[in-house]
Amino acid sequence: MERLYLTEEHEIFRQALRKFLEKEAVPNYEQWEKNKEVPRSFWKKLGEQGYLCPQVEEKYGGLGTDFGYAVVMNEEMERVGTGMVGISLHNDIVIPYIESYGTEEQKQRWLPGALTGDIITAIGMTEPGAGSDLANIQTTAIRDGDDYIINGEKTFITNGYTADLVVLVCKTDPKANPPHRGISLFVVEAGTPGFKKGKKLRKIGQHANDTSELIFEDVRVPRTNLLGEEGKGFYYLMEKLQQERLLVAIQCMASAEKMLELTIDYVKQRQAFGTTISNFQNTQFKIAEMATELEIGRTFVERLILEHMKGKSIVTEVSMAKWWVSDLAKKIAGECMQFHGGYGYMEEYEIARRYRDIAVTSIYAGSNEIMKQIIAKNLL
Ligand SMILES: Cc1cc2nc3c(=O)[nH]c(=O)nc-3n(C[C@H](O)[C@H](O)[C@H](O)COP(=O)(O)OP(=O)(O)OC[C@H]3O[C@@H](n4cnc5c(N)ncnc54)[C@H](O)[C@@H]3O)c2cc1C
Repeated sequence: MERLYLTEEHEIFRQALRKFLEKEAVPNYEQWEKNKEVPRSFWKKLGEQGYLCPQVEEKYGGLGTDFGYAVVMNEEMERVGTGMVGISLHNDIVIPYIESYGTEEQKQRWLPGALTGDIITAIGMTEPGAGSDLANIQTTAIRDGDDYIINGEKTFITNGYTADLVVLVCKTDPKANPPHRGISLFVVEAGTPGFKKGKKLRKIGQHANDTSELIFEDVRVPRTNLLGEEGKGFYYLMEKLQQERLLVAIQCMASAEKMLELTIDYVKQRQAFGTTISNFQNTQFKIAEMATELEIGRTFVERLILEHMKGKSIVTEVSMAKWWVSDLAKKIAGECMQFHGGYGYMEEYEIARRYRDIAVTSIYAGSNEIMKQIIAKNLL
C-alpha cells in the first residue's frame, strides 16, 4: 500500500533505525525482559542518535520532525518487541504535554534532558481505585502559598520505576462539580521529598517495560511545576488521548503483521503427514483471512494517521481503531500460536512472547469498553 505521508527521508530514517535496533536492542532484548526494564544506557544511545523526541522544536535540541517519524519509530520498535513501548510513551505521549502546555521556562528546563535520555518520563493517571473512571481520582494537590502539597497513589505506571519526571494527574479542587473540572496536571521530579516508587510490578507480558506504583506523601512542588492552567487537566488529557490511542492501533498493527510473518515462515517449514502445514486448506484459509483483516485494519489506520497529521479531531474514529485493531491483534496472536502447535507455547518461540504482550492492548490507554462508550456517546 502506498503510504502517502512517508517520504524518502522517512524511509532513510527507517533503515538507519532498523540497523541501530538490530545492533543495540535485538541482542539485549531477552536480558531486558529478565531485568524488567530497558536500561538507561540504551535510552542514552537513542538520544545520541536523535531518536528521543525528534519532534521537539530545534531550539530545544530536537529535529522538529512530523508524526510520520513517530509512526516509523513505533513500527520499528514494535518489530523488536512490545516491551519498548515505554520509549514511545516518553516520545509521543508524555513529552507532548510539556511541549503543548508547558511555559517557556518549563520547556527550557525539561526538554533538553528528555532528548538526551537524562530525563526519562512517565504519566500518572491511574490509581488503585480509579482507572477508567478518571474523574474519580483521589490524588490531591492542595495549594499552600506558592506551592502545592501532593498526596495520593498511582499504579500501573509505565516507566514509573526509572522515571526522572512524572506528569501527574491530581485534583486541585476535590469538591468540583462536575469532578473533572477539579483536575490539574503537575510535573513531579524524582527525588522530591515524599515521592516514593514502589517495586516493579510483576506482569504477565511486556516484561521489558517497567511498570510501577508511585506514592506521594506530602510532596511539596512549587507552583512553577503546574502544567498549563489549574482546573484544565482533564481537557488537556482528552486533547492528547487521540494521539495515544492512535499509537496503540499503530503498535497493534505492526505487532500483528509481525505475528503473521512469523507464522507464514513457520508453516512453510513445519512438516506433518508427509507435507508442510502450509499445504493444508485450513492453514491457507486462515492465513488468507488474517491477511485480509490486516489489510482492512491497515487501510483504516493509514487514513487516520493522515487525518491526525492534518490536525483533524477524529476521536470517534481513533476510538474505533483502538478497540478494533487491538481485538484483531489479540485474535491473530491466538491463531498464530495455534499454527505453531506445542512450540508456540514455548518461550523460545517469539509468538509466545507476542501472545502475552498483546493481551493488555485492549485494557490500557482506555479500555476497549470505554472506546465503545465514547463512540456511542458521539453517535447517539
Ligand atoms: C501494562 C500496563 C501499563 C499501563 N500504563 C499506564 C500508564 O503509564 N499510566 C497510567 O496512568 N495508567 C497506565 N495503565 C493503566 C490503564 O490505563 C488502566 O488499567 C485502564 O485504564 C483500566 O483501568 P482499571 O485497570 O482501573 O480497570 P477498571 O476501570 O476497574 O475496569 C475494569 C473493567 O470494567 C470495564 N469498565 C469500566 N467502566 C466501564 C463502563 N463505564 N462501561 C463498561 N465497562 C466498563 C473496563 O473496560 C474493564 O474491562 C497501565 C496498565 C497496564 C496493565
